[in-house]
Amino acid sequence: MTRPVWAEVDRSALRHNLKVARRLGQGRQVVAAVKANAYGHGLAEVARALAPDTDLLGVAALDEACELRAAGVEAPVLLFEGPFDADEIEPADRLGCELCVHSSWQLQLLESVAPRRPQRLWIKLDTGMHRLGFAPEQASELARTLARWPWVKQLVWTTHLAQADTPERGYTQRQLAAFHGAVASLPGQSSIFASAGILSAPTQGPADHYVRPGIMLYGATPFRASTGALWGLRPAMRLCSRIIAVRTLGAGEPVGYGGDFVTARPSRIAVVAAGYGDGYPRHAPSGTPVGVAGRTAVLVGRVSMDMLTIDITDLPWVDRGAEVELWGPQVPAERLAQGAGTIPYALFTGVTRRVAVRYK
Ligand SMILES: *Cc1c(COP(=O)(O)O)cnc(C)c1O
Repeated sequence: MTRPVWAEVDRSALRHNLKVARRLGQGRQVVAAVKANAYGHGLAEVARALAPDTDLLGVAALDEACELRAAGVEAPVLLFEGPFDADEIEPADRLGCELCVHSSWQLQLLESVAPRRPQRLWIKLDTGMHRLGFAPEQASELARTLARWPWVKQLVWTTHLAQADTPERGYTQRQLAAFHGAVASLPGQSSIFASAGILSAPTQGPADHYVRPGIMLYGATPFRASTGALWGLRPAMRLCSRIIAVRTLGAGEPVGYGGDFVTARPSRIAVVAAGYGDGYPRHAPSGTPVGVAGRTAVLVGRVSMDMLTIDITDLPWVDRGAEVELWGPQVPAERLAQGAGTIPYALFTGVTRRVAVRYK
């Protein structure tokens, strides 16, 4: 038997979540974010599942666009961060990628090496994230300049929200006001909301044209205190392993590195073949839920590279070979992430190469 650790990715859940994004997007077109290997779910497979119902696929790098084309995916692709240098412009053009530019150095590249085919150009404005983007005050001058560029068919004004996962703070309103103030009178389309915005406030402000869902397509949310189930989202990934040994210990026995956990009663402790070397979070504390044969057990002791230990004292029928769900429909990634001081994005993208992915 090979080491039993695998991830199941459910294509029907991906397609279902895309429908939810479309419905909450209220008629806006959809840019499905499939960057970072489709958030660890497998770029080609996810893109094939989603492409028929998306308007664009969003990636962070030209390499990812190449991988999509090599896999036979012909849907339009948006490079979220545009070209990183002049050498990328010609291949991006050839592969049919739309570009999003955030800085004047990128416009200078595009002036020196213009794409050959007419296409839309996405312009990112910094309305308060203070990471990438032009100042909103530059928008009208950009519009005037770019109107003279022959290959620019249309502009799509875009921005990214910094605190959409905490709408009660009001920062989103400020960003929306800055955005609309800058682009309301300019020609072109616009795009504001990623998952947090789609799930919390999609109807606010004047209508824009595109939503850009990412994490919600994979069934999780960016919010600290809720899971995707609240919106009818279905976890697309189930990270699984099996029990490879069971040990019976008396009370007062330490388990694992450092002896951080000590049995409080006579206990049955199961060893599961998964650890941080597979992408399970090393900082998950004792007490973290783990699915076992449809029931729930808890993690005890420190997570090792290749193994972790769970308490199955209350599940006397569970034995070596039993299947364990580390995250998925039974153990929401949001819950696990919160307990471990991380986010579902990092859990999904942190699944390592030695985890076989099975698609169903
Ligand atoms: C990754 C990304 C998204 C998707 O964000 P989620 O929070 O996963 O929905 C949207 N827009 C841009 C520009 C991105 O880079």
